[in-house]
Amino acid sequence: MSSVEVALAAEQVHAAGGRLAVEAARFTGYGWMRGTSGNISEVVSRHPLRLAVTASGLDKGELLATDVAVVGPLGESVAVEGVEPLRPSAEAGLHARVAALTGADAVVHVHALNAVVAGRRWPGGVLLRDVETLKGIGRLAHDDEVTIPVIRNSQDMAELGDWFEGAYDPRTPAVIVADHGLYAWGADLTHARHVTECVEWLLAYALATA
Ligand SMILES: [Zn+2]
Repeated sequence: MSSVEVALAAEQVHAAGGRLAVEAARFTGYGWMRGTSGNISEVVSRHPLRLAVTASGLDKGELLATDVAVVGPLGESVAVEGVEPLRPSAEAGLHARVAALTGADAVVHVHALNAVVAGRRWPGGVLLRDVETLKGIGRLAHDDEVTIPVIRNSQDMAELGDWFEGAYDPRTPAVIVADHGLYAWGADLTHARHVTECVEWLLAYALATA
């Protein structure tokens, strides 16, 4: 059920939509958002939790600031005056769970090939240590054992959210969804992008050196 969110201004949602569009175009350039896959979100309100998320079914390389949907804690659509009610991605429910649990204000989900291949190779989690790029995800370059968790895929976002919570380690800002892709998050959109880039690099490194 959707309700009118009076506290949220359309300008705020579209400003977030503009930032999401820029990052989506960048990730499309990396080849991580093939077809219409992947989605990015930004928290636009913490109490109550509201996320601006890229709208479903659109080419992520060509988004406009208005190609954005607003969702609540379960990924449900929330009406905002002055914002066209576009359909959010089904995956918005997991974005909201990530934002709620981790406190991150931006969440990135991409179908990066290295994440899917690494998830298949190491279904129990991808172990990383002693590599400088770990600093890019807030960990140490030496003597720090880092596991990127891998959870099973599901079309049920509540189930997927429960598995994410079970696998979540507050020190590790990313999770691989097996046979699907990668979720990564950060304090803001730029930070979330840096984390995503570094995690994808680390997964490529793990595969190349295995
Ligand atoms: Zn996906």
